Amino acid sequence: MMDGQIMWVDIARCTGCGACVEVCPVEAIALADAKARVDEEACTGCGACVDACPEGAIHPVIMIQGELVPAPERPAPPVYRPSPLVETAGAAVVVAGTGLLTKAAGALARAVGRWLMRRSAATGPPAEDGASPAGDRGGGGDRRRRRRRGQ
Ligand code: SF4
Ligand code: SF4
Repeated sequence: MMDGQIMWVDIARCTGCGACVEVCPVEAIALADAKARVDEEACTGCGACVDACPEGAIHPVIMIQGELVPAPERPAPPVYRPSPLVETAGAAVVVAGTGLLTKAAGALARAVGRWLMRRSAATGPPAEDGASPAGDRGGGGDRRRRRRRGQ
């Protein structure tokens, strides 16, 4: 292993179940006399055997001045967190989008209001005697009928 770490098997705890042998991806563990033995040359230090051992019998260790000591914990992989700048930009986009939607809804409401006002002004209120109001198509029809009769 490159960083000097090796997998040390606590023989007193090992029951020889073979779980570590099964999970090792590089076949670096074998059972000898019903105890696990790690081939240090082949071991890549992946830690799969450590997790698989039900007895907690395998430990990553390093050799310091002829003594085996527990290997330092490997740092956990970094968790992605967006930078404050990215979070702020995202919030600004949401706010801007909401503002645009509000403006568009207001403009649409004003346009509809103006159209209704123009339509109301063009048709005028209905006459009380039942005659068509000014600008109504009915008035044009009366004038055409009178022209045909020569009035
Ligand atoms: S650390 Fe990985 S490569 Fe090394 S013996 Fe355990 S399972 Fe095999
Ligand atoms: S998994 Fe643990 S108890 Fe089982 S053989 Fe491997 S070291 Fe021994």
